[in-house]
Amino acid sequence: MAKWCCDGMAASVRERGNRGLFVYAEPPEESIKSPRFRLCFLAVEERDLEPLRPHLTGNASLAGCTGLHYCPWCGKDLIKFYRKNYDQFYDDKLTGFPNRAT
Ligand SMILES: [Zn+2]
Repeated sequence: MAKWCCDGMAASVRERGNRGLFVYAEPPEESIKSPRFRLCFLAVEERDLEPLRPHLTGNASLAGCTGLHYCPWCGKDLIKFYRKNYDQFYDDKLTGFPNRAT
């Protein structure tokens, strides 16, 4: 069973992939030993990103992310609190999402 720092974080993760804000984590890599937490947004459902991309003009963004070190709702240090269970933030359906911001 998942352990969350607060209800706000649990709700955020439950909503990932849906339109709006959510928290996501990328697993550690060889050069970066800690998971990287990100606060992400989707202007549309994740499944609708690719069909809409060809129709974008100008500087519109359908998705984006920024680094996140502390829980936006309760202030917990995310790497300390989730060091052993960061995988509950990872979703392979969103693989590459942070790099696909448009
Ligand atoms: Zn929290």
